[in-house]
Amino acid sequence: ETIHIQTESKNYPVYIGEGVLNKLRTFLNDYFTNLTRIFIITDETVANLHLDKLSSVLNPWNPIIFTTPSGEKAKTFEVFYAALSKALEDQLDRKSVILAFGGGAVGDLSGFVASVFMRGIPFIQIPTTILAHDSAVGGKTAINHPLGKNMIGAFYQPEAVFYDLELLRTLPPQEVRSGFAEVIKHALIHDVDFYYWLKTSVQDLNAISAEQLTELLTKGIRIKNEFVRKDEKETGIRAYLNFGHTLGHAIEAEMGYGSITHGEAVMIGMIFALKLSKQLAGLDFELEEFIEWVEGLGYKTKIPKGLSVENLLRKMKHDKKSIAESIRFVLLESIGRPILKTISDSTIVEEIKVF
Ligand code: NAD
Ligand code: ZN
Repeated sequence: ETIHIQTESKNYPVYIGEGVLNKLRTFLNDYFTNLTRIFIITDETVANLHLDKLSSVLNPWNPIIFTTPSGEKAKTFEVFYAALSKALEDQLDRKSVILAFGGGAVGDLSGFVASVFMRGIPFIQIPTTILAHDSAVGGKTAINHPLGKNMIGAFYQPEAVFYDLELLRTLPPQEVRSGFAEVIKHALIHDVDFYYWLKTSVQDLNAISAEQLTELLTKGIRIKNEFVRKDEKETGIRAYLNFGHTLGHAIEAEMGYGSITHGEAVMIGMIFALKLSKQLAGLDFELEEFIEWVEGLGYKTKIPKGLSVENLLRKMKHDKKSIAESIRFVLLESIGRPILKTISDSTIVEEIKVF
């Protein structure tokens, strides 16, 4: 299956399904004239599990391989600098291509490297996590600064995305949960039927069939694209994609990245935002049923013990999406209909205390 992503700056295909990696060689041959070098950026975990497969597809090219530490450690200035150094040493040029082979962390790093190397060379996303159905589409790339996550980056779109779902079979349960939370988010902010389909058909994250996975990731990508297509640079409705992220990011930051996965933190944030939506935006929703469902899938549904409300509030204010220190939440008027609402600090503190 192919999804066509449209943005103001570029249109590109997402090839999704089991085995789509086998089409990569033909794509490279057809798409690029005089391709000089292929530069693969991957992390240690993905390299160990799946690099052989990618290399065999790229035969007879002789790709350069740059391996980063796994997870968020890929998104540092040091790794960014080392990737650029390697690209220069190995004489990449404007006719070369970077392949981002990994989860969102590798994708974010690789896209940013591609955006600045010689003022921009092409790159292709080959995502290996469920979460990356979100991160590989939309063109946001970034590394982290000690003062803030994703603070240094660029909007830069890939030439194509090859989403081979066979590669996802090795994901550990917490990474499956992390990515699936974003699928639920996409359903909640845009498609009530999709939401009820998910809720009735997914009861066990280890038992999702290949067909179901293709369908739910395809839907998630299409929804993400709906928001990005209309608002590539996030001046308006793209902000709705931050549903659950205001508190989610604060929890992640307070606990320390890596102690909880992104999506698992966002799930707690979504439950909080759903509760606020019922109180402040007129949402009619069976929240208890929702909580029961996601607990059954293995999610935590409360703010982890030991986090101080004041620190969480401070982190929410530092979120670069909050304008002028007042906190703007994405709430739902109904499932599929998001709105933005400024909520006072005192209300937030009260609500967290009783959450
Ligand atoms: P990740 O890339 O850190 O991957 C999570 C873990 O899974 C890592 O340890 C990785 O080595 C491992 N892994 C990856 N593929 C695997 C596989 N097939 N089998 C087994 N293990 C595998 O994280 P992620 O959850 O994919 O993405 C999170 C990152 O994405 C964050 O840095 C976040 O900021 C970013 N993000 C970006 C956007 C965007 O629009 N650019 C959107 C959402 C998230
Ligand atoms: Zn997210």
